[in-house]
Amino acid sequence: MAELEGLEFGKSDFVLLDEVTMEQFMENLKLRFEKGRIYTYIGEVVVSVNPYRQMDIYGKDNIEAYRGRELYENPPHLYAVSDAAYKAMKRRAKDTCIVISGESGAGKTEASKYIMQYIAAITNPSQRAEVESVKNVLLKSNCVLEAFGNAKTNRNDNSSRFGKYMDINFNFNGDPTGGHINNYLLEKLLRGGSDEMLQSFHLQNDPAVYVYTKEGTSNNDRSSHKAVLSALEVIGFSKEEITSVYQILATILLLGNMQFESDGESVNIVGQEVVNHISELTATDPESVNKSLLYRTVATGGGEVIEKGHTEQDACFGRDAFAKALYERLFGWIVSRINSIIEVKDYDPVLHGKNTVIGVLDIYGFEIFDNNSFEQFCINYCNEKLQQLFIELILRQEQDEYQREGITWQHIEYFNNQIIVDLVEQAHKGIISILDEACLTVGKVTDTVCLDSMDTKLAQHPHYTSRKLSPTDKSMDFQKHFRIRHYAGDVTYSVEGFLDKNKDLLFQDFKRLMYNSANPVLKEMWPDGHLSITEVTKRPLTAATLFKNSIVALVDKLACKEPYYVRCIKPNEMKSPVLFDDARCQHQVAYLGLLENVRVRRAGFAYRQLYARFLQRYKMTCEYTWPNHLMASDREAVEAIVIQHGFQDDVAYGQTKLFVRTPRSLFTLEQERNHLI
Ligand code: ADP
Ligand code: MG
Repeated sequence: MAELEGLEFGKSDFVLLDEVTMEQFMENLKLRFEKGRIYTYIGEVVVSVNPYRQMDIYGKDNIEAYRGRELYENPPHLYAVSDAAYKAMKRRAKDTCIVISGESGAGKTEASKYIMQYIAAITNPSQRAEVESVKNVLLKSNCVLEAFGNAKTNRNDNSSRFGKYMDINFNFNGDPTGGHINNYLLEKLLRGGSDEMLQSFHLQNDPAVYVYTKEGTSNNDRSSHKAVLSALEVIGFSKEEITSVYQILATILLLGNMQFESDGESVNIVGQEVVNHISELTATDPESVNKSLLYRTVATGGGEVIEKGHTEQDACFGRDAFAKALYERLFGWIVSRINSIIEVKDYDPVLHGKNTVIGVLDIYGFEIFDNNSFEQFCINYCNEKLQQLFIELILRQEQDEYQREGITWQHIEYFNNQIIVDLVEQAHKGIISILDEACLTVGKVTDTVCLDSMDTKLAQHPHYTSRKLSPTDKSMDFQKHFRIRHYAGDVTYSVEGFLDKNKDLLFQDFKRLMYNSANPVLKEMWPDGHLSITEVTKRPLTAATLFKNSIVALVDKLACKEPYYVRCIKPNEMKSPVLFDDARCQHQVAYLGLLENVRVRRAGFAYRQLYARFLQRYKMTCEYTWPNHLMASDREAVEAIVIQHGFQDDVAYGQTKLFVRTPRSLFTLEQERNHLI
């Protein structure tokens, strides 16, 4: 619980609400936002509302105020959790992680920057150059990855890069020594050469765009383009590498504009110019470019290899898949290059002590749009996994503390969402398995057929329904909708496009084309291109399965760390610093599971406090403790206060701390205290 602030700013910890209702939660959130208090706790969780204006709370003096202090000694702030994470890491040699979630524009990336800024500021001055350089690369890479990852996919305006995880490594002194970035993309879903993506690079929709890289960086009216370029330079990309990046982007652009024509017999590319351009940009020969766009190598049943001409439709399809894959591999390569630059080098644990980590995860929260597709399905599944971890870790943390303090473990009632996680990921019976099976089936399997199969297999599942299973529910369509009862609420998904989005659609011919590039940077991105068609027998993993694997790996990474949470809320769609859109905010509170969060937190002991600190704050409320107590221990003095106020049934006494079950008792004390001072 945060102290030092009066109630006119609302309650600084939602745990202190009289009742855990949406009304009370929203009232408090709104009041605090209007009073310029953008941060509020739920225990150790920070709820943040994007202020859309510069707040005067991030200065040097603020950093000093939070440095080395306990959570409740200052108003709620990101700095307080950053400090808590840092202390846990330094004092107890624990790996920690800070999970920042919320929708696009809610302030996640800003929050991660403030956290890094804080950590950089409080680490050892002698090492600051090192800290700055690690931080600099992490921040600069942010700029690059944002530019690359934020291509819009469809009218949902939703980013393909929906999560980023950064590890900062520390030596035993608590000084940063390096880092690592992981990006979570819905890679298969990008439209090749989308205008938005190209805009984010400030490349014009102009076939001669590759001239850019030839001209160098002398053009000063292209300042935003230069920001990305200079970020790449600062991070440490070589000139050749940067040139390759832009050549690949230009290739994607050209593919986006490429058209085919058919004379009824054969299919051709409109205008030979474009083929020459691409061959020049990718350092491949024009004949091979032409061929990979118009033909596909297939292995016949008899083991024979033949070349099959594309239909116009196949050609378009192949072209788009190629553009997406180019983009996806480029992005993956950039991330791996950044990692090779910032990774901890020559760390000897014997010499340098235990290496610890603070991880920062910046990830989309629950998503629900008017039309929810495969992207939302993946993101929401990820959030179920994170919720599962959250419950496990929070409960474990509580349990550990009770044990340390010698307090009997209290059973906590909460909703265990494992059943929903299973619905999505379980082998054979889960939705992902059913999707994969449909993708592997030879012949024409449509999205609707796949939906039927889900309906049959999941009919009994309490968290799954569809129109067929609930015929009276007219909000769903027989052909395309199914609904999952997520922990945060119901979401209706449309299966349209699920199968296509789940498949790996890239013809091997393109992979080989790229592998044969004379540009070593490009070649490096396509190591699987050396396989001949007869070797490519194994089915590639589907998008959903790849996604699942990456989320499972992420959760494993987080599970062994001590977690801290930041939940970000976007107050309105107008980027206004004064507008608190009740409906929008309430929606986010619901989908971030914040009420459940408060409930879990309150189910055990809502509040705990060191005896000495408790006394310091409340000793004036009891005649036996004011101005100083004469008892044998602080604990006995605290008992005197508790008994005087009549809430002895609401507390437990630990080794070093008082535990209070309901916040009401604390309120009595706070009110009393306010009267007296
Ligand atoms: P997200 O990463 O969640 O999509 P961002 O962190 O990029 O969102 O925030 C979007 C915009 O909101 C920022 O560019 C900034 O203008 C504003 N913003 C977010 N957090 C803050 C903050 N703490 N103080 C001031 N402005 C903020
Ligand atoms: Mg962001």
